[in-house]
Amino acid sequence: MSAADEARVLAAVPDGLLIGGEWRPAGGGARFDVFDPATGTRLASVADGTPDDGIEALDAAAAAQDDWAATPPRVRSELLRATWELVQQRKDDLALLMTLEMGKPLAESAGEVTYGGEFLRWFAEEAVRITGRYGTNPENTGRTIVSQHPVGPCYFITPWNFPLAMATRKIAPALAAGCTVVIKPAELTPLTTMYVGELFRQAGLPAGVLNIVPSTAAGPLSERIMDDPRLRKISFTGSTPVGVRLMQQAAKRVLRTSMELGGNAPFVVFDDADLDAAVAGALLAKFRNIGEACTAANRFLVHEAVADEFANRLTEQVAAMRVGRGTDPEVRIGPLINEQAVGKADTLVRDAVQRGATVRLGGGPVTGSGTFYAPTVLDRVDAGSDILQTEIFGPVVAITRFADEAEAVRLANDTEFGLVSYVFTRDLARGQRMIEGLRTGMMGLNVGVISNAAAPFGGVKQSGLGREGGFEGIHEYLDVKYTMTPNPFA
Ligand code: NAP
Repeated sequence: MSAADEARVLAAVPDGLLIGGEWRPAGGGARFDVFDPATGTRLASVADGTPDDGIEALDAAAAAQDDWAATPPRVRSELLRATWELVQQRKDDLALLMTLEMGKPLAESAGEVTYGGEFLRWFAEEAVRITGRYGTNPENTGRTIVSQHPVGPCYFITPWNFPLAMATRKIAPALAAGCTVVIKPAELTPLTTMYVGELFRQAGLPAGVLNIVPSTAAGPLSERIMDDPRLRKISFTGSTPVGVRLMQQAAKRVLRTSMELGGNAPFVVFDDADLDAAVAGALLAKFRNIGEACTAANRFLVHEAVADEFANRLTEQVAAMRVGRGTDPEVRIGPLINEQAVGKADTLVRDAVQRGATVRLGGGPVTGSGTFYAPTVLDRVDAGSDILQTEIFGPVVAITRFADEAEAVRLANDTEFGLVSYVFTRDLARGQRMIEGLRTGMMGLNVGVISNAAAPFGGVKQSGLGREGGFEGIHEYLDVKYTMTPNPFA
């Protein structure tokens, strides 16, 4: 990709807030800048939505709600499908845009275009399968009808780490179910969501069904929208502390709530594992997205009999990974999103080293321009280290050893989070015991990547509530109604 490609893609991002089907300036005309984390250079200036703009976006969503809910499911389905087709046509541009604003290598951005796009296609297929039930009550005195109805206008808040997929994973099921949407993308990466918003418009989505309000005032904007009685649902992807705060705000008006929050994934390697597969899985589970994924393996728990071999092989592969700007096709590790992310990873690494961890590779920020952290492998990490209880969100492997299965389960579950776990074993019964024993919403059994539009993504414990994707995803946007009728033969 050339500098001309970069300029062309950036120029194609629409300017303004998407409200009522039109891109328009923010109230007061305020704007904010978006930067390339690999170079620190300014990529674009974006309209900065105010709380009043948020209410105007909700006005548009509320005005469009009844018509959208009454739009035939087949039409809703075809609009999602048409947007998916536009995403396919623009996939290279979308991938480049994501790499520019977020930093991940181009090949991974292309992977996210496929993954994020799949939610449009999957929920296009689900839109026409919203069903109900008709039944006889046990006493045979009546007939029960169970029907499903769109929840109503929804508000979405998304993070910067997967700028496309985190948006489509919410927008697609909501639109399929007949709900209208206001979305606030992350301040650090709004451009991809804006670009996709324009694709929805080009596909023919009616005005007001999808409204996009980038903003630097996440707190006040969200509070205003969530205080409005027309809003019926909040769905958030981001950190657990912000999710907790939003749940408290949602409680005031008893909003339907979906929360996709932080993780602290254990990656468990048993002594009977296929070590080649475990190392390949580890590279994906840890280094995909520069380690900045809620699903990133955070704690490597390795049986003591194979720990040296696993660590040696993994370190050798990680040492070969090129660090740099994601637009270079040879690069495997892009920049972290900002200085704070570098500082956080480094503080965790220093704490672990102070407590006795061995540095097999890396161990600090990369000097020079951009916010890069050296791919790092720490071994023999002490149980009391902060890195074992905190989401690292960076390219750092932390290895701890265990002696037997019971210890592996105890260590894996020793966290308030419960998003995903990874287990490598050749023993089927052991794998089944892990499915039942590890308290996470998802598991990778002998695989390092679990995300798929057809699967219900989500966590337990402080990793969140609700599921995105799969058959379950659309139910986050449907209210169940039950109607009792008399026995027509009585
Ligand atoms: P974050 O700081 O919680 O921000 C996420 C979003 O919330 C951003 O749009 C942010 O706006 C907004 N926000 C911040 N404070 C807010 C407030 N008081 N009221 C309303 N909105 C507010 O998280 P992040 O650093 O962007 O993302 C990383 C986190 O997301 C990690 O913990 C990761 O595990 C989690 N995550 C979870 C999943 C999942 O599916 N479970 C997926 C991806 C990421 P600004 O951009 O303006 O700050």
